[in-house]
Amino acid sequence: MSAALHRQTELSEQLLLLYELGYSDPYMHHISGTFNFKSHPDLLDDSDLPLLDIIAVCLTSGRPGDVVAVAFDKCEGICLVLAKHGPVLPEDETATNAFFSQVKAASSWMDLLPFLFSHSKANIEKQLLRLSQMTIDLFSDLQLEIATYLDKSESMEDEFPKSKAWRRFLYEDRQLTIKCILDDILHISRDESSAFNAQTNKASYTEYARVFGAAYTLLHSRFLDMLTGVSNHNISLKLRAEKLKRRLGKVCQYSRLDKLIKQMKRFPDIPFRWLRDDLKGTGEGVFEICGEPIEAIERVLNIKLSLEQIEKITQRFPRLLDDWAQYRSFKTCVHAELRIILHFSSSLPSLSPGKLGAYQELPLGCSKRSCLCCTLWIEAFNETTKLLWTTSGSHGKSYSNWALPGNVQGVAAELDKYLMDATWTRLVDILERVPRIPRRQEDIDDDRIVQAAFDRIKELSGQL
Ligand SMILES: [Zn+2]
Repeated sequence: MSAALHRQTELSEQLLLLYELGYSDPYMHHISGTFNFKSHPDLLDDSDLPLLDIIAVCLTSGRPGDVVAVAFDKCEGICLVLAKHGPVLPEDETATNAFFSQVKAASSWMDLLPFLFSHSKANIEKQLLRLSQMTIDLFSDLQLEIATYLDKSESMEDEFPKSKAWRRFLYEDRQLTIKCILDDILHISRDESSAFNAQTNKASYTEYARVFGAAYTLLHSRFLDMLTGVSNHNISLKLRAEKLKRRLGKVCQYSRLDKLIKQMKRFPDIPFRWLRDDLKGTGEGVFEICGEPIEAIERVLNIKLSLEQIEKITQRFPRLLDDWAQYRSFKTCVHAELRIILHFSSSLPSLSPGKLGAYQELPLGCSKRSCLCCTLWIEAFNETTKLLWTTSGSHGKSYSNWALPGNVQGVAAELDKYLMDATWTRLVDILERVPRIPRRQEDIDDDRIVQAAFDRIKELSGQL
């Protein structure tokens, strides 16, 4: 086995372990390479990032593993560059042509429902199902909150801005109280979202419009602002309300297509191309799962575990052995975001950081938030090149199908090492919280190991 394949096997095994141990890094949004629009809502309208995100969301089917990334190539004119996890298929080309021709002809994003219900059916249904599940979880708490909230009620427009059309669609000229409307929203979000079947017919579009309107109205309501705001001291409810807000945001994201429709009226013929670059030296391939999870943990900790230690691990992670047994092999691929970055890395002049000096922002749209490894890799790559590839967020989870991208002249090995150190450090950190697992003296040096990798990357970048 070559050194590169050995590295990939080791990394994939550790990523699978991280996944099975339930790891996700909640602080990914603090690092360079992700942009938190929640903290800077004023920048939302000026950035290309939300526009690129929604293009990527529309072009994914929503089936597992179908992730799309997109960026502008502004080197010679403007062109959209698209990539996905794994190979591009002829139907991706067909769907992209259909999408842009329908955007050109549309006057509102609702005109795109036939495309979305056909191409992104799985995604649309998944978003509504998750909204329903979240509403079920919060239902009784929200009903109690509505009851006490009534005393503070404002006018209808203050309470539900931008929702006049939906209220007229639902209630015509009937006058209802804020309590009744909030109650209706809860029932629609819980009941009508749960088994929504996106069909390309008028009845299905109307059904969707009811749920979308309810989600949009709640998302912009003062009621939800109050639940997620600093004045809400019920932390458990506040956190769950924030999660509900994210689910509502997912359902409502398609309304951003109105901006794309407007842009395409001005620039109707922006070309696009899917990347089919044949990447060299990557960790793409099919790999066997090596042995039992306990063996994998022993390799990570570099110790032979006693029976007592194994028992403590299986008590702490009761599903680990059964879940692991389901895996036989895994197929790795270079993730869509990195395919785009690698494509540009050979042409962007900024790979000579000496000439550039300052960071240059490059928005990178994605159909879902980036994974742990993509985010860490983008951070290290940005550090090296003084580029600022920016996605709109990371969920901080690890996936064993993540392939080392190699292919970055001069710094691939250092980036690989950085990724492997960062993954290993996180694993050791989780495992050492299990009782009876000894804390190793050399772990104290982890930060220095990571810093050393960064220093080497910087040193090498000066030689490019
Ligand atoms: Zn990724």
